Amino acid sequence: MNYDVVIIGGGPAGLTAGLYTSRARLNSLLIEMGLVGGQIVNAERVENYPGYPEGISGFELGQLMHQQAEKYGLKTITAEATGVELHGEQKVVKTTEGDFIARAVIIASGSERRKLGIPGEDKFTGKGVSYCATCDAAFFKEQPIAVVGGGDAAITEALHLARFASRVIVIHRRDQFRAGRILQEKAFAEPKMQFLWDTVVDEVEGKDLVKRIRLHQVKTGEKSTLEVTGVFISIGLKPNTDYLKGILSLDAAGHIITDERMETKIPGIFAAGDIRHDSARQAITAAGDGATAAIYAERFISQ
Ligand code: NAP
Repeated sequence: MNYDVVIIGGGPAGLTAGLYTSRARLNSLLIEMGLVGGQIVNAERVENYPGYPEGISGFELGQLMHQQAEKYGLKTITAEATGVELHGEQKVVKTTEGDFIARAVIIASGSERRKLGIPGEDKFTGKGVSYCATCDAAFFKEQPIAVVGGGDAAITEALHLARFASRVIVIHRRDQFRAGRILQEKAFAEPKMQFLWDTVVDEVEGKDLVKRIRLHQVKTGEKSTLEVTGVFISIGLKPNTDYLKGILSLDAAGHIITDERMETKIPGIFAAGDIRHDSARQAITAAGDGATAAIYAERFISQ
């Protein structure tokens, strides 16, 4: 199937790109392998997206962006992108649902949650280990749970979990959070929250479900165990670029390198959002990247 523009990824970057290319009357296809909205779907409340003074749920924001883009003709399919190939002037996007030919491609496939890589993590995923507080918090009513990480996402999730759990123990590998000030203030004011500084998790243990985690204090080396039924891991994101290796220039962490027009080293292939080197990794900056990529994709096609 031939399109003017194929967009890979349905987060704020891809959806905004789709809105702009569709409004430019370009025949546009968006490929998304899960729910539209991307990482923002996990945010219970988004308070820093302009235009929503009372905040908005991440899920709703994603749905609204999608509705707006579809209104102008964006088509969406559920599939996983597995590669991008160049056939002369044409770009071929390979997916689990077949190949799509495009004149320009906008890559906005974002990132996925990083894993700790410790014993028990995989075994207990879905049995106490979770990467999504908004999805799983309700399973842990009145139970003690741990949150691993010190960034915006970890603290946002810990605050959400405190509404359900009996206690939330935030475990951070340093003695200072990376999260923004307002989130930190909210966390320190939450009576159900406790903090373990300079501490890392070595192992998750249990039988059918999680029962405890093994920890060690990085400065003293002291080992301990903590009885919890849930472990929420929120230690950052890994760009979804494995399917692009060998085609595009990636930085050491796997992000795509672009110029200020969001164009990669291959003319007609653009990248937008979290997947891009040096992205500010906010919904609003991703949306801005998507708009920029779409505008220059349109110029590329019209040349
Ligand atoms: P992040 O900002 O990269 O923070 C990751 C956290 O995990 C850091 O505290 C880091 O520790 C810790 N960490 C990393 N690897 C670890 C490991 N192997 N073991 C233990 N701890 C580890 O990632 P994020 O919180 O997922 O946020 C991603 C982006 O989304 C950020 O740009 C963030 O601002 C944005 N975001 C914003 C909001 C908001 O504005 N409300 C909400 C969610 C996310 P160190 O600090 O020691 O490096």
